[in-house]
Amino acid sequence: MNFQGRYVAVVGMQKSGFGAAELLLRKGASVRAIDGNPTDEMRARCGQLGIELAGQSAESLSGVDLIVLSPAVKPHALPAHDAPVIGEVELAGYFLQGPAIGITGSNGKTTTTALIGHILKESGIRCQVGGNIGVAPTSMIESSDPGQWNVLELSSFQLATIDEFHVRVAVITNLTPDHIDWHGSFDAYAAAKARLIETQQEGEYAVLNADDPIATTWRGRTKARPVLFSLNRPVDGGTWLGRDGVLYSMEDGVMLASEVPIPGRHNVENVAAAISATRLAGARPEQIRAAVLSFPGVEHRIEFVRELDGVRYYNDSKATNVDATMKAIDAFPGGLWIILGGKDKGSDYTVLGEPLRAKAHAVLLIGAAAEKIASQLGAAVPLIRCGDLQNAVRAAHDRATAGDIVLLAPACASFDQFQSYEHRGRVFKELVKAL
Ligand code: ADP
Repeated sequence: MNFQGRYVAVVGMQKSGFGAAELLLRKGASVRAIDGNPTDEMRARCGQLGIELAGQSAESLSGVDLIVLSPAVKPHALPAHDAPVIGEVELAGYFLQGPAIGITGSNGKTTTTALIGHILKESGIRCQVGGNIGVAPTSMIESSDPGQWNVLELSSFQLATIDEFHVRVAVITNLTPDHIDWHGSFDAYAAAKARLIETQQEGEYAVLNADDPIATTWRGRTKARPVLFSLNRPVDGGTWLGRDGVLYSMEDGVMLASEVPIPGRHNVENVAAAISATRLAGARPEQIRAAVLSFPGVEHRIEFVRELDGVRYYNDSKATNVDATMKAIDAFPGGLWIILGGKDKGSDYTVLGEPLRAKAHAVLLIGAAAEKIASQLGAAVPLIRCGDLQNAVRAAHDRATAGDIVLLAPACASFDQFQSYEHRGRVFKELVKAL
């Protein structure tokens, strides 16, 4: 792909936007940076790159040869324009060297991506890890080479705009409703995720969750070879959990599920997906077992914070949707004081009623979604309206007794009271440590 002398508009100037702009400049293009909310920080960075920064309008999109969208920008929300539109991942795909493993799904992307990166590195297989988990794919080009794997976490926003970009190994962890506010419907959201396997070619592999009612039906949507994983039944050529508690992959016993060091059955699923992906990249069963045993877990994912007076505190701030919260509840035997709430994403919280009735002493409600959650949970479980996280941590601490668990797994986005889920998780940990 030749960008020499072409005029490209990059829309959405966060990490991916700047990754794309810098790549395009290196390739000889002229770049116009565009953002709906230009900030001083963006202006300063554009100044350093010697490119103009414009607001988002039909005018600023006119006269360019190509428009590159960062994942934060909805393609259908762009003002009128004539130029063709591609996404940041598509752009990266033109230049990225080496085979790629792409990981998507509603939950478990980051954990599975980090697991795959950790297993490959521990097995002596060269790789770089990025995408939604950290470095933008366009910022991974310079450090890519033909002999090194690219392990990419890819969100529905990043995949909505891919066209020719394809990966050697695709991993679909699961599909449950999320981001309906952005995509408009569950079907549109699932369709964006499916792009990852639809662009794959013959000779490539699609690692699919056979236990997921939707992902398992996607076998027909790809030219790649389906490689299934299941915790419920043996799957030929894939990875599965045997009745003896052993995770088998391609007929080899890899490890005991009980040895998986990160909590919850959903993490055994993530390990199963990672086993398939890393075996396809050349890792051996004994290397995989050793690497999983030394996996430290990922911050803000059912992360143990502290034990105080026999009460254990866990930070699962990344539980930003209902399914992740279900999995967090599932990972504990009971005795829960669980903090729910934040910014609602159009979710249905009623499904939390039963598991909460069975396992929670009470729900501590915070944030903008508190009343919606309260009305949907009804009388299933005692509710304590706390307003904010500080009050919630204090209320939980006042009431919990030895053996109980205080869990932040809010089932909502964080943006009503925090900058991000990371910010929310850090504040929670500070509050807990200060008790
Ligand atoms: P993602 O990157 O897809 O958001 P993470 O690994 O960051 O996934 O986990 C997000 C949330 O979902 C966390 O609360 C985590 O405990 C939970 N989770 C992790 N893996 C799974 C899974 N396979 N199924 C359901 N929930 C999961």
